[in-house]
Amino acid sequence: MAVVEVRCPECDSLNVVKYGKQPNGAQRFICQNPSCTRRVFLLNYRSKPSASSSRQQIIDLALNGADVEETARLLRLPTQTVLEVFQMLSRFSLPSARPLQNRKRVARPQAAAG
Ligand SMILES: [Zn+2]
Repeated sequence: MAVVEVRCPECDSLNVVKYGKQPNGAQRFICQNPSCTRRVFLLNYRSKPSASSSRQQIIDLALNGADVEETARLLRLPTQTVLEVFQMLSRFSLPSARPLQNRKRVARPQAAAG
């Protein structure tokens, strides 16, 4: 059985174990060093942030309600880059990007007098 040495990118500990997989199939690891602040990490981080990973970050922030300027500031990207992704997003319908509309509305009886 081949053992791959995996070190935590944060604390350089070898005390890491496999921790499921990313949706894209990348192996996740978790650092078991109790004093480590990072914990879950991927082994195969790309050396340079690619356009697609920035886009994913932009999408994640957008889904969390960040606007263009906020996203650009947080990711240290040009506003134009963020805008382009937002415009691209608006062309597709992302089910998870829609606001929650199917929450049960509780009908409250109106009091006649306040
Ligand atoms: Zn660690």
